[in-house]
Amino acid sequence: MSSQKGLNGLVLKIVSRCNINCSYCYMYNMGDESYRLLPKKMAGNVVDHIMERAARHCDEFEMKEFEFILHGGEPLLAGKSFFREFVEKAKKQFEKKQVRLRIGVQTNGILLDTEWCRLLNTLSVNIGISIDGPADRHDRYRKDHQLNGTHAKTLLGLHTAQLESCKIGVLSVMDASTDPQAMYNYFNQLNIDDLDFLWPDHNYEKLPALYQHQSPRPDYTPFGDWWIRLFDCWFADRFTRPRIRFLNQVVLMILGRDAGFESIGQEENRYLIVETDGSIEASDYLKACGDGFTKEGLNIERHELSEAFHTPLMKMHRQSHRMLSDTCRRCSIKEVCGGGHIAHRFGKDKGFANPSIYCFDLMKLLTHIQNKILDNLSAKTIREAGLAKMSYQDALRSINM
Ligand code: SF4
Repeated sequence: MSSQKGLNGLVLKIVSRCNINCSYCYMYNMGDESYRLLPKKMAGNVVDHIMERAARHCDEFEMKEFEFILHGGEPLLAGKSFFREFVEKAKKQFEKKQVRLRIGVQTNGILLDTEWCRLLNTLSVNIGISIDGPADRHDRYRKDHQLNGTHAKTLLGLHTAQLESCKIGVLSVMDASTDPQAMYNYFNQLNIDDLDFLWPDHNYEKLPALYQHQSPRPDYTPFGDWWIRLFDCWFADRFTRPRIRFLNQVVLMILGRDAGFESIGQEENRYLIVETDGSIEASDYLKACGDGFTKEGLNIERHELSEAFHTPLMKMHRQSHRMLSDTCRRCSIKEVCGGGHIAHRFGKDKGFANPSIYCFDLMKLLTHIQNKILDNLSAKTIREAGLAKMSYQDALRSINM
């Protein structure tokens, strides 16, 4: 067996088109036009190759768990028969293995009717729904091709899935111009137990609009300030607190646990993308770095999944929390931050050898969380765990700011 760890799973782009057109979408609206050349739907023979390669990968790396995340475009456009056949093929390929298989779908929720929900329940497919908040926020970004807001249809899908007792998580792209307390209350009243907010996809070539065309500054941290207020609501809520993945992971890491994922921490990124034509690629968030940026010439028909460990971009993505810029290497909170998400480090001059575009926001947020947690631990626990308070200014000094 290889000394490297195997993949945790694959994100499968089972369709390359979408029934809506979100303004911030990295697939269609961030400069990558390569989707136009892809088959609209993944063919059955590509699924067959995926199953064979994934099963072999699990054998090679003695994996005990593996995950398929069905993604798009809008994955439900693939149709119910695709889902039935996919799960059948997965079961057939994995039934004799000691591998716990998980299958999820990430959808905009618009097509989720009773029939879909019952099918996904029968197939044990977990559902992730993308909701950006109340109608006035969601409809600002998540519009259909006629420029109509999609909030009402998405909420109908969510409620249908809740009525059918589906296993549901919600993903929301954060909007730092919103009131975090109002957002927290909104998702709480929707009875969402499993929630995450994604940092918007920006880099040094495509700065967040809130930065008003200026490079990041330590005294201007709208994203960090938003998260701090969200964290404070969440931390104070002892009764209905949902799991918010980003915050859960940060808290675990501060308490010394091995945690983290693509956005933060020290863990390797052990997911890969497979496009509808079978291309194997690194994180699809990297599409925002330029047209065809994620293409490295690997295809599930011809290559084993472990061959993707060695291409430059996939290697960089996998080890992104170790392959840090000089600034990040000096930083006193790099163990928790991990340089942030690789897609947020990109700039034409230095490639990925930059701190995250959200560096100061992350620094302010992570020091705030650490100090707040320490305020709630006994002096003995803090001493035994070797923890210490650190101000934002202390962290800034570590990178000579
Ligand atoms: S806070 Fe900034 S300098 Fe420190 S690890 Fe994160 S991105 Fe790098």
